[in-house]
Amino acid sequence: MPKSKNEPQDRRVDHFFSFPGARADRWRALHAAARDWARNRSDQAAVRGEFDELGRYEEFFAYPGRKLLATLRQRIDGGQAGAAAALARRISEAILTRSYKADPDDWDSAEMAAETQPDLNTPTMARGQRNRPYFEMLLVAPGAAKRGDSLIEQIRRLRRPEDVFIYETVPVGSFEEAICAAILNPTLAAVTLYEGFAHESSADVPVLRDFLASAGFDAASVADDDLTLALADVIHRIRPELDIYLLSDRHVERIAGDPRAAKIRRVLYSVEELLELHLCVLEGVSDRFRTPFFDNLKKYAMRPISTFHALPIARGKSVFKSDWIRDMGEFYGLNIFLAESSATTGGLDSLLEPTGNIKEAQEMAARAFGADHVFFVTNGTSTSNKMVHQALVAPGDIVLLDRNCHKSHHYGLVLAGGQPLYIDAFPMTEYSMYGAVPLSSIKKALLDLKAEGRLDRAKMVDLTNCTFDGHIYNTRRVMEECLAIKPDLVFLWDEAWFGFARWSPFLRPRTAMGAAEAIEKWIADPASVEAYEAQQKQLGKNPSAAKLMETRLVPDPRKVRLRVYQTNSTHKSMSALRQGSMLLVKDIDFGEVEAQFHEAVFTHASTSPNQQLIASLDVARRQMELEGYGLVANAIEIALDIRKEINGHPVISKYFRVLGADEMVPAEYRHAGFVDFLTPGVDWEDQVRSMHEDEFCLDPTRMTLVCGTAGFDGTQFKKMLADDYDIQLNKTSRNSVLLQSNINNTRSDVANLIRVLLEICNGIEKDLARGGENGRATFAARVKSLMEDVPDLPNFSHFHDAFRWDAGKKTVEGDMRSAFYSAYYAEGCEYLPLDSPEVDQRLKKGPEMISANFVIPYPPGFPIMVPGQVVTKETIDFMRKLDVKEIHGFERDKGLKLIRPDHAKDHVRK
Ligand SMILES: *Cc1c(COP(=O)(O)O)cnc(C)c1O
Repeated sequence: MPKSKNEPQDRRVDHFFSFPGARADRWRALHAAARDWARNRSDQAAVRGEFDELGRYEEFFAYPGRKLLATLRQRIDGGQAGAAAALARRISEAILTRSYKADPDDWDSAEMAAETQPDLNTPTMARGQRNRPYFEMLLVAPGAAKRGDSLIEQIRRLRRPEDVFIYETVPVGSFEEAICAAILNPTLAAVTLYEGFAHESSADVPVLRDFLASAGFDAASVADDDLTLALADVIHRIRPELDIYLLSDRHVERIAGDPRAAKIRRVLYSVEELLELHLCVLEGVSDRFRTPFFDNLKKYAMRPISTFHALPIARGKSVFKSDWIRDMGEFYGLNIFLAESSATTGGLDSLLEPTGNIKEAQEMAARAFGADHVFFVTNGTSTSNKMVHQALVAPGDIVLLDRNCHKSHHYGLVLAGGQPLYIDAFPMTEYSMYGAVPLSSIKKALLDLKAEGRLDRAKMVDLTNCTFDGHIYNTRRVMEECLAIKPDLVFLWDEAWFGFARWSPFLRPRTAMGAAEAIEKWIADPASVEAYEAQQKQLGKNPSAAKLMETRLVPDPRKVRLRVYQTNSTHKSMSALRQGSMLLVKDIDFGEVEAQFHEAVFTHASTSPNQQLIASLDVARRQMELEGYGLVANAIEIALDIRKEINGHPVISKYFRVLGADEMVPAEYRHAGFVDFLTPGVDWEDQVRSMHEDEFCLDPTRMTLVCGTAGFDGTQFKKMLADDYDIQLNKTSRNSVLLQSNINNTRSDVANLIRVLLEICNGIEKDLARGGENGRATFAARVKSLMEDVPDLPNFSHFHDAFRWDAGKKTVEGDMRSAFYSAYYAEGCEYLPLDSPEVDQRLKKGPEMISANFVIPYPPGFPIMVPGQVVTKETIDFMRKLDVKEIHGFERDKGLKLIRPDHAKDHVRK
């Protein structure tokens, strides 16, 4: 795979966005250079160059450590090409395979082994390390550059055979380096601060300094006496999962009053035993490692239990003793049957009314995801969404809803009786997909309701963040401006795909919980009242709607009731089994609706929830808290790599391309001027500013690959990749497919994808060469049809008058539930074949056609008709052009199912 060189990219986004992968690359490059040198194909200076480049960052990692690095440098400087190559290879492999975490031999070189007499009393890496999870602790201490080795040794000496984990120390001497380490080193699980460390790094790190400044972490701007707390605060902002310890020889009372002190897990006096620190660090990690439900399930599985409850499969006896289904047992293994149970006793707890380890596991998940409460849901986010609707929306309440959201929201409203006020996302017609809902449309809908005196009925704003195709909202701004119009609005953010984003400091502020936390802080800040009042003064009395539309509204912090809900399909972005989902709550008024939530759980949750699903939610949380940061960085790195390889490849880029952020997000929503991750000249600062300010930005892990330009429609291309190349992907549009990277992808997946695309392109080129003029013309026509002959996307038309009512007035929102149930009366319904002249007749002369049900074509997957909606010409045109096979809610031979206009009013809720 062609690999672009690193040097000029220093300031490029991917450099920091995704450091872990880049580090392995750098080591590989050093090894390659050293190998070439050993074969006389390169020289010492080149190797030294690679070594220096890489050396700038290595102090932020425990492995390979100062000694091995010094040895490597000696070998390079001493002209020992072969020995240098051998050591570079070993280190590079150890980093790539992570073997150093378990293998003490990785930490030694021949020189070092000869130097030190084996001393069995020294508890070095070598003893008892295997099989214990490994992490690193950042130690920020004055003079770390000089004292580093002794600090490392000091901490190593604390190891005891009974320690459950093993860790190494990464000593750094300054605020600046500490932040760099927190960003660059994903293996960190704990941070210890010794008071008295320096502001700035003594080494010259211009790139890091730029980066820190642009991300708002400027060491120079922090006052001296605050340095320790300021550092704790910044590290917590970057990686909230890290435990922070403070070793102080001064009085703790000094910091006790500062709210930032809450970020510190424990303050220890330097005079206390260091052993105490060691125990705290291990305990802190155990606290995240513990999975209360899963741990107990494993214990339960091992107990001899006779079952007399209704679950024959439990204990596996019905399977393993059978002549006919034994293969199922052999396939899944015994444990899954031992762990199956319908009991809620024996410590297994009840998902419907958790009081024991499920409750505890949910509380731990709440901590990890930054919520106040979490509900585990074992029927997918489809159910989580319906639970939120049922618990919070009463019949007649208005819900502002993206028409293109997942079907669970539409059906949730049918069940709850809430009335959808559909708002359209911006269309991306050329790719047959929708973007996200512009804030101006949301504000307009709210201001219209206000003007009509009906704002009190607006209960909830319900949006998908990020969308299937990767549009991320400015969650904070959306909520603030909406709350400025109605301070008690509830927000439901469907983050089905986006649960992982919590573990990226760049994406986190744009998650529902990240934004809610920021707003919560803002509300508590006295300056916010001033900001609000200043804006009120400026707006004057009774500002016009136009003025409110163009102003970035500030809510009244004294009136805001912050009520934020997030649902995520844990199984879509983390290591949970399919259907494992979480419902996150940060609602200041949760106490008032808690009982309704329990009813919603009772309504929707199975009384036989699957134990393995619950366990996997518990375990997914553990994983993200301990390695999520690195895994997510890796997923982003892989995505940027795919983007780079495809769009930069001389052959592949002739037929395929991954759409850049500029093509996915129209310029009017990119105020900060960000173009794309890989645009030359776009640097880290642009990316940070865009993430901070733009109305929408793009999740780099979601890649829209245009395949129409290669002559394939999305469905056809998806099938070909699956059938011929064993590459699976999810979503398609008329001329594109969606690739996504996640925490399980590796570099070899990228290589495989690129190889396959290249093979396909070579095939196309061969065909074109063979087909001559005619072949080329056919190909061009096919591409043109796929790329240009695209149907207009029909916006939501409106509900039929029979289903729009409020105080005798026509409304935008509709009583979809009544429409839905009208369709249950056969005599009130009619069918019209899609292509019949009667359809055109009705469009022209009426009476209006009213959809009796949801019609959802896949792709694109949004309901082009909902119950009660008036069917317009745009809808019919789109349906007739649609060349997909799967259309839910539409039977081609019968035709469109409609509610007879004369019956429409019969079943309306009065
Ligand atoms: C997949 C998805 C859901 C439903 O989640 P499941 O876990 O599959 O039930 C809801 N909303 C969105 C945006 C989704 O992509």
